[in-house]
Amino acid sequence: MPCEEREQLFELLLEATKAHNDAARAMPDRAGEALERLTALAESARKTCEDCYEVLRAHERSHGCAPNSVSLGRANV
Ligand SMILES: [Zn+2]
Repeated sequence: MPCEEREQLFELLLEATKAHNDAARAMPDRAGEALERLTALAESARKTCEDCYEVLRAHERSHGCAPNSVSLGRANV
């Protein structure tokens, strides 16, 4: 049974992951100050990812709504 709250937390995690990927992917095109800004952006996006993941896991633990086995297999919504 899908948990709506977990779905929302998972969406946030996906968004944060995407933000980090986008920033990391744009890095080779940047230099100097622009690269520094992008690096800072990627770093903060990475932290957001970790926070989202923590919150998701904490919810799953307390709510007992973790999917049985392939937890990340349902990523493509
Ligand atoms: Zn739940």
